[in-house]
Amino acid sequence: MTLALHGIGVDGGAGTAVGKAVMLARGNIQAEPRMLHHGNVEQEVRRFLQAVESAAAQLREIRRQIPQDTPADILEFIDTHLLMLEDKAISEAPVQLIRDEGCSAEWALQLRRNQLMRVFEEMEDPYLRTRRDDLDHVVNRIMGVLAGEDSDTAREIRGKIVVSEDLTPADTILLHHRGAAGLVTEFGSPMSHTAILARSLGLPAVVGAHGATSLLEPGELLVLDATHGAVLAGCDDRTLDFFRHRIELEQAHRHTLQALKHAPTVTRDGVRITLQANIELPEDVHTVRESGAQGIGLYRTEFLYMNRETLPDEEEHFQAYLEVVQGMGDLPVTIRTLDLGADKQCEHQPEAAGCTNPALGLRAIRLCLKESAIFRTQIRAILRASAMGRVQLMLPMLTNIHEARHARALIDDEIHNLQREGIPLDPEMPVGAMIETPAAAITADHFAELFDFLSIGTNDLIQYTLAVDRADDSVAHLYDPLHPAVLQLIKGVVDACARHHKPVSICGEMAGDPRYLPLMLGMGLKMLSMHPASLLEARQQIRHLEWRELQRHTDHLLQTLDPDRLEQQVAHLSS
Ligand code: PEP
Ligand code: MG
Repeated sequence: MTLALHGIGVDGGAGTAVGKAVMLARGNIQAEPRMLHHGNVEQEVRRFLQAVESAAAQLREIRRQIPQDTPADILEFIDTHLLMLEDKAISEAPVQLIRDEGCSAEWALQLRRNQLMRVFEEMEDPYLRTRRDDLDHVVNRIMGVLAGEDSDTAREIRGKIVVSEDLTPADTILLHHRGAAGLVTEFGSPMSHTAILARSLGLPAVVGAHGATSLLEPGELLVLDATHGAVLAGCDDRTLDFFRHRIELEQAHRHTLQALKHAPTVTRDGVRITLQANIELPEDVHTVRESGAQGIGLYRTEFLYMNRETLPDEEEHFQAYLEVVQGMGDLPVTIRTLDLGADKQCEHQPEAAGCTNPALGLRAIRLCLKESAIFRTQIRAILRASAMGRVQLMLPMLTNIHEARHARALIDDEIHNLQREGIPLDPEMPVGAMIETPAAAITADHFAELFDFLSIGTNDLIQYTLAVDRADDSVAHLYDPLHPAVLQLIKGVVDACARHHKPVSICGEMAGDPRYLPLMLGMGLKMLSMHPASLLEARQQIRHLEWRELQRHTDHLLQTLDPDRLEQQVAHLSS
């Protein structure tokens, strides 16, 4: 009998894997109370210290083997764990407990972990909250060594599907390096570091597959279908053949798509479409160039602020932007200003701790206008980068025109300041707005008048229009990109831009989804920005579409309010 587990698929171009399950105990390992006989004490101390050293050696090995294009924040993450391992609070305090109380190494480590956790828990600081997770990662690594889970397991990983409660980014890199065929985790969301890394490493994964570690057996053959977010066990030979054949087709397909890297993105009836890429880190530029993108439509800069104790200064911002701008040559780079808040917290948001509803709180532009010194630092760096290439600045989460005017005034002010200081910049640098709240979409004419371009952020537009938290999987079934209200808002923004002769693009996940792409074109969008892994696929799809046909069908489709009929009609557009 086949067992099917469902989770969230992370498909970075390779969607399917078939391999034996290998279980990795990366969840929180709980030690049982165990006391020693007197004679064993010094032996136990040595066992503990060796385990700490082996854990550090594992991390150093990961650090050494890390691929060149690994995001800098992942390196910092590993360095933090190495520092913690060297900290006396972790490496020496348990030794004291072994000697004074006669605890086993595991129990001493568990007691120390619990003590430190209590200290962290008493503090409301969000920075310390992330340190709590780090502490567990480090403790679990030492526990893993004490439990004898050594590199033998790691050596057996090639071609296997790794099943774990959760994985650190460091583990993800190591597993990729050791040839894992795919990853299944019980926890995690598509926004987690592990998911982001798996996607950029092209490692198929299913995260949030609840029950995976208890329901799946080590050594049994699994099918991982990241495209549909499913893990299958106990498949018969026919099913296995089907998926093995699908892997071959996927490989062949990826190969064919490469031929489109330099091909124009043009519909069958000759309408040119611009495909751009969304990035999170400067290092992503390499993948963007490989994808044949015609620019960067969304650079999410908030990752510059994460996993660190200090705020990035102007020079650090500038160097990051410069790397992207130089990497993209004469192609445009749209840098979005800080969009912290809601599901993207960082250590420098004291306000977030007392926030009752983060998605509706001091998020993105609201935070920037309140903390204008932080905002000005970023604006200055973006303006300086504008002297080096085709830079555009984009503001997130606007809801009213006062915020828009306030932000523009700060930008103008910094243009004057930099000019007075004799620092080169492009005074004509285009400034755009993200339309991702219903308020902004309904009043899009106003925004189109004030800004040089608009970009529709459907991830948030859907969340705010339908009152569905985009990060909460209990209401994920209500998160409906095809809800008529969402479609009408998108169409309204496109029409407003046409009236004002301003460019409009779409940069939410909908843009890179082949199910919705014909509809987006049908609504008049000619510029789409998406994850680089989706780009060549989108180009191929567009080259088979007829622009005029799509317009005709979409006008009709937008009159439909019945969700089932609407879904059928959208499916028909792609056929
Ligand atoms: C969006 O909301 O659609 C968007 C692109 O921004 P983010 O996903 O970063 O909120
Ligand atoms: Mg958004």
